[in-house]
Amino acid sequence: MRLRYVPGFPSPARKVRDRSLPIGHRLSALHECARRFSPYGFRATWHHLTVSARIPKRLEHDPESLERALDELEAARRLWLLHMETVALRRRESKSRGHRIPRGADEAYPPGWSGLLHCPDLDVYPRDGLVAVIARLVAAYAVGATDRRACLACETPRPATEVCPRCGVAPRGYARSPSPEERERMDDRWRQVWGRTWATPYGFTRRERQALPNVIALASE
Ligand SMILES: [Zn+2]
Repeated sequence: MRLRYVPGFPSPARKVRDRSLPIGHRLSALHECARRFSPYGFRATWHHLTVSARIPKRLEHDPESLERALDELEAARRLWLLHMETVALRRRESKSRGHRIPRGADEAYPPGWSGLLHCPDLDVYPRDGLVAVIARLVAAYAVGATDRRACLACETPRPATEVCPRCGVAPRGYARSPSPEERERMDDRWRQVWGRTWATPYGFTRRERQALPNVIALASE
């Protein structure tokens, strides 16, 4: 199986941490990082990062929030890279023994970097931090799990054609298109998320975080 590598994460990551750059440039660099590693798909991953790192509407009130978001994304990506290296090593060993076709867990290995756990609704994604979720995905692949009968992110049983009712992750190959009304609602919602219009200029209040449909536990609370 050919893996589709998407290079270029470290360069924008450096820009996010470069405090000499204008804050808007650093935000754009964080967008770039999230486009290059977005486990839930870009929109849901970006929503998650915005909430988990508490990125305020006016970035100058908490510029470190960009670094918090990057720290989480980068740690999850590192874990995934490690998994990929492990898989590649196993496949090389398998080849050297004459097994040309990947077997077992490797068959369940997804081909891309984005949407490893695609969440079609940007408001509904796993509640835990990205690292914990990727660790569960890696553990699932390690035992050869597939998402034909249960969600790989939370193990909730569901049909192979349905989004997980618990955490919003779609099975691989999920192809249902949203209705025009759903699309309009999702696009409206995305504009709010993109503009962080629900955040205060200074960040997220506790009440705002609780009001969000999918608030994750924050270590600082
Ligand atoms: Zn799930």
